Amino acid sequence: MIYLDHAATTPVHPRAREAMLPFLGPEFGNPSGLYAVGRRAQAAVDDARRRVATCLGARPSEILFTSGGTESINSALIGIAYAMRRASAGNHIITTQIEHHAGLHAAQFLEELGFDVTYVGCDDRGHVSLAEIEAALRPETVLASVMLANNEVGTLQPVAEVASLLRDYARRQQHRVLLHTDAVQAPEWLGIDVDRLGVDALSLSSHKFGGPKGSGVLFLRRATPFRQLLHGGGQESQKRAGTENVAGIAGTAVALELASAGTRERSARVLALRDALRDGILAAVPDALVNGCQQDCLPNNLNISFPGIESESLVAALDARGIAASSGSACSNSTWEPSHVLMAMGVPIRRAVASLRFSLGESTTEADIATAITAIPEEFARLRPSALVTAG
Ligand code: PLP
Repeated sequence: MIYLDHAATTPVHPRAREAMLPFLGPEFGNPSGLYAVGRRAQAAVDDARRRVATCLGARPSEILFTSGGTESINSALIGIAYAMRRASAGNHIITTQIEHHAGLHAAQFLEELGFDVTYVGCDDRGHVSLAEIEAALRPETVLASVMLANNEVGTLQPVAEVASLLRDYARRQQHRVLLHTDAVQAPEWLGIDVDRLGVDALSLSSHKFGGPKGSGVLFLRRATPFRQLLHGGGQESQKRAGTENVAGIAGTAVALELASAGTRERSARVLALRDALRDGILAAVPDALVNGCQQDCLPNNLNISFPGIESESLVAALDARGIAASSGSACSNSTWEPSHVLMAMGVPIRRAVASLRFSLGESTTEADIATAITAIPEEFARLRPSALVTAG
């Protein structure tokens, strides 16, 4: 298999898997247990928390383990907004139109709860504008949530600049607006430092960086107003009830350490492969169009439209050749829904439903890309024979 869908999920790193195995075997204790096997499980969770905190430049007490990116994002948005409203700070939230559905749908749920939400747009390359965020600020604004890197087109967003804008606003208006970022796509490619980003909350999902599925991290800066989403036991300093996923937590810490080390070298190597893939496709399919920008974006992402086809057909044809890629549109109730991100960028609908996302990863090789460069135009030509200028 040539796996070009690392933005969807990544293979579990062997060292992360190794770190998990004891907790799926003899070290099965509940961290709340006061006896030896429970204490060892608690020690593993504490150790993982320290290690994750170090990777992010945070304090261990600021790290919560969750069931993944979706839970982290929902907890941050709903938990902070609710706590701020309870403190009578206001009921307005700012987010962007290009967030992952975890963020968008959490914001829509907050609207159901009576919050007012402004969804800031983006330009044709997928960048949100600071000026638009600034213009959306008002005395009732309590929270802004802006993703660090977009999962469909890979564009990086100016999160540190938003943080500095909010600090200035707080100084001028004596009114603090908290900032969350969805950094789910970032750890393998960017060094993440919560102070450099200036965020109050940050969400991660372990399976996007070589860890297991069903595990995630929420950084919550000390003293950030927060109401927990999950109620029950007192785990995670009363901020996230439920018996800890000890194996997942152990795997998360190892995977995040591995992802955080060598991001620059990894990015440079994968960027060269991504550019080769892009140039190879564009040379063979001249009317293919790249969506998003190729600078100021994740090095592993290539979103490209193949006019005249439906993306699902090409995804299926590539799958038959052993190549895994992703289509930008989702099928619901038998109608093709174009990607909300491409729509926000103003991409015409016909082009949006013809887009594929290729996302490379640590394990992608030159041979993978060479095969893909041949196979993608060939399969495209089969679907739309008149479109190919070079013979496969
Ligand atoms: N945020 C982004 C940017 C993502 O790419 C994803 C997963 O695709 C999520 C959030 C949700 O993560 P999970 O499905 O692991 O909960």
